[in-house]
Amino acid sequence: MNDPHRKAREQAHSVQDLLRELFPETHRELFGERDSGAPPTLGLYPVADGRLALVHGDQLAEFTPIDPKGKNALHCDLCHYTRSRSEALMYRVTIAARRTRYVTLCTPTEACQGRAGARGLEAFADRIFPIEPHGPDDH
Ligand SMILES: [Zn+2]
Repeated sequence: MNDPHRKAREQAHSVQDLLRELFPETHRELFGERDSGAPPTLGLYPVADGRLALVHGDQLAEFTPIDPKGKNALHCDLCHYTRSRSEALMYRVTIAARRTRYVTLCTPTEACQGRAGARGLEAFADRIFPIEPHGPDDH
């Protein structure tokens, strides 16, 4: 019942979940610092319709899932793991009126962000932001 070895294995498998539950301060360090003058928020958050929102301070980018072409394995642009096609999705993000970027991200985004860490998230956000606002004369 209380086999310590089994418990250790289970903890290893869900270390990211445990990090959030047991060490919320560490989790907050990874995903956003509020007291150091750094942007208050940095992270990817699932929103409606399978989309993801990338939030960095007061900036926001919306990732819309698309059907990737071909049959190649996918390479996550955030944690840089190679993923099978069932483990990742391609997303389209509009970064300016006529500029669209495509990114690949693991489907379970929390574990992905845990692998990438704060530095990985920042590097990823730097590739996306700043988003040019969409003016009324886009078209
Ligand atoms: Zn990933």
